[in-house]
Amino acid sequence: MKSLWNEADARAAVARYAPSGVGEDLALRTYSARLLGADPTLVLHGGGNTSVKTTARDLFGEEIVVLCVKGSGWDLATIEPAGHPAVRLAPLLRLRALESLTDEAMVNVQRQNLMDTAAPNPSVETFLHAFIPEKFIDHTHAMAVLALANQPDAQALIAEIYGESVACVPYVMPGFALAKAAAEAFETRPGLEGLVLINHGLFSFGTTARQSYERMIALVSLAEAFLAKGYTPVGARPNALSSPSAADVLPVLRGVLAGGADGRWPSRWIFDCRATREIMTLVDDPRLGEWAGTGVATPDHVIRTKRHPLVLPGPNQDLGTWRGEARRTLDAFVESYESYFARNAVRVSAGKVPLDPLPRVAAIPGVGLVGVAPGPSSVPGRRLWVRRP
Ligand SMILES: [Zn+2]
Repeated sequence: MKSLWNEADARAAVARYAPSGVGEDLALRTYSARLLGADPTLVLHGGGNTSVKTTARDLFGEEIVVLCVKGSGWDLATIEPAGHPAVRLAPLLRLRALESLTDEAMVNVQRQNLMDTAAPNPSVETFLHAFIPEKFIDHTHAMAVLALANQPDAQALIAEIYGESVACVPYVMPGFALAKAAAEAFETRPGLEGLVLINHGLFSFGTTARQSYERMIALVSLAEAFLAKGYTPVGARPNALSSPSAADVLPVLRGVLAGGADGRWPSRWIFDCRATREIMTLVDDPRLGEWAGTGVATPDHVIRTKRHPLVLPGPNQDLGTWRGEARRTLDAFVESYESYFARNAVRVSAGKVPLDPLPRVAAIPGVGLVGVAPGPSSVPGRRLWVRRP
């Protein structure tokens, strides 16, 4: 992985944003956040976030130290200065003395300290960015780092690759507790260049935007080089099944999902079926069920894909029989999701609301991976309007 930092482009960003009152710190923050966002192997579907500590002026003209941190709803690839809303830093730092803080209280206090109350909610990882006393902080869910950080012996692997320059943070759900754990790991060793969050991702930091960004690239490159030495990607296998086409199978799956609704959940679904060489290698492998059961690569994915895909049996020409098998597989998925929710809702802060228990990704041998989303007409209170010609 190569650094894409270009000094002329960085200066051009500073010059471009200056007329609208954006200072150099935030301009360079925006520039390098976009460099990270442009590489899907770093941010895995919109994941990751970035920040800079700088100053702003209040209505009295007094200078205030603020944390400009990525706001929700912004994509790093296309982020603008407004995508890093400024939050007063001192009140956030004072809260570190608290034992715990619920997600709801955290969002509330972050909003209370926004310089612009119309700004989007700062990232769920805002406190982590606040507690680490470095000027620029870059955070990604880099694929190469996750391939190592998601291993059972991740700590040893990370130590072998990075030595003293990176510390590990054991898995904690993103939020206040994770921010405290990361700050403690940061403080154990002076001169750190980054933190690996087990089962989550990588943080790098620096005194300049360039240093923080280039440390990220260097750390991910080391992970890539390590993987290239010791691991071979799963090779492509010829498709062993003579399957019916996606056009035959997907309408049956749509019916199965609609039938699972019982009026309680959305009944209309939109599919996005993909069947690249890598995807077919995955779905046609006998170890598909085992791999699908290992869980997602980062906490972010749980929101979008649920914790597991629905692994369906490979369809043969008898789609009537397959429909019954798919139905039973879906029932088991629903039951497993509901018990998973019940088990974990009692462990974490109160007031968790279950999502519908249906899958967001289905893996079908011989067919591919299917992204699943509720169609507009099935979301209560919304209608699909079609403009007449
Ligand atoms: Zn993250």
